[in-house]
Amino acid sequence: MPEKMELLSLTPDELTEWVKQQGQGAFRARQIYEWLMRGADFDEMTNLSLALRRELAEKAVAMPLRIREVHTSQLDGTEKYLYEMLDGNLIEGVLMRYKYGATLCLSTQIGCRMGCAFCASTLEGCVRNLTPGEMLAQVLAANRRIAETDPEGRVHNIVLMGSGEPLDNYDNVVKLLRLVNEERGLHISLRNISLSTCGLVPKIDRLAEEHLPVTLSISLHAPNDAVRKQLMPVANAYAMDDLLQAVRRYIQKTGRRVIFEYALVKGVNCAVEQADELANRLRGMQCHVNLIPLNDVEERQLHPPTKKEVELFMKRLEQRHISVTRRREMGDDIQGACGQLRRHALENTDD
Ligand code: SAH
Repeated sequence: MPEKMELLSLTPDELTEWVKQQGQGAFRARQIYEWLMRGADFDEMTNLSLALRRELAEKAVAMPLRIREVHTSQLDGTEKYLYEMLDGNLIEGVLMRYKYGATLCLSTQIGCRMGCAFCASTLEGCVRNLTPGEMLAQVLAANRRIAETDPEGRVHNIVLMGSGEPLDNYDNVVKLLRLVNEERGLHISLRNISLSTCGLVPKIDRLAEEHLPVTLSISLHAPNDAVRKQLMPVANAYAMDDLLQAVRRYIQKTGRRVIFEYALVKGVNCAVEQADELANRLRGMQCHVNLIPLNDVEERQLHPPTKKEVELFMKRLEQRHISVTRRREMGDDIQGACGQLRRHALENTDD
């Protein structure tokens, strides 16, 4: 049997083309697209005949995932979703409700092959890439969930900071960006989207050429190559100098400020001298540093520093005129950190 067509991976024009191939007109395509953008499955598409709905369901997939579990933080209302894909794979998403709108943290791959020492997403490697439709469906499912309690509510901001390395799934992620920005669809501004990468240098250069004004976040986590190599295998492939040069080119090309993510790990990267070293390397760049005290991952022997150490590190960067904030920890009680929930679910299924 030929594989089913995943409709959410198609642009409206591609969808119209496909619907025409099924012997239907552009009007039907528009109806179907509207339903799809509401996260509906074929059985809900009640303005289509039952026969057509059945035919579509035989040839195509509308919703490629469902929310299997919701964990709500008692501390701040953050929700963590465990999504189940059609092939049974699991991914996670986190919905954070800020005053300026809901932010959804999306996964781009099932697992990850980057191997960062502190990250739970990478412990079992990368199972497969997510399709553009599977990424879009994460937003649609979250929108449906929000609408249950707030009919006006929806996802306003997206951060590609769930499981996976977005630039390791480059074509699908770029298509996803165009799909969520589609004005006939969700029409989420690209400026409300952050793409976080561990630093795949050639792909950063490629992204700079796409004319997509997303915010680029770089997971730096170290002031030099030696420390970076302890935490991130990708540092063996690309020297920090080369990475920072690529970031400078990105800033020059796009005019956008870049964010550096810096997870503080006790005894590894948070000494005051290391703040100095970091400041020297970032001097003069149009950038912002986001400090994240490490989320403890049970499987790893890495821990966050004390509050005092975090403060001193931050203060030193400020003294050196680096724009810096400390990331608010959300959903601490629901395993908000990358890959933790999926991992626990996998462990429970293994039992
Ligand atoms: N692969 C991409 C995006 C996913 S991770 C990247 O590397 O940027 C999103 C962010 O969470 C990254 O900055 C990542 O380094 C960080 N992160 C992963 N595990 C963490 C942990 N245990 N504590 C704090 N930050 C973590």
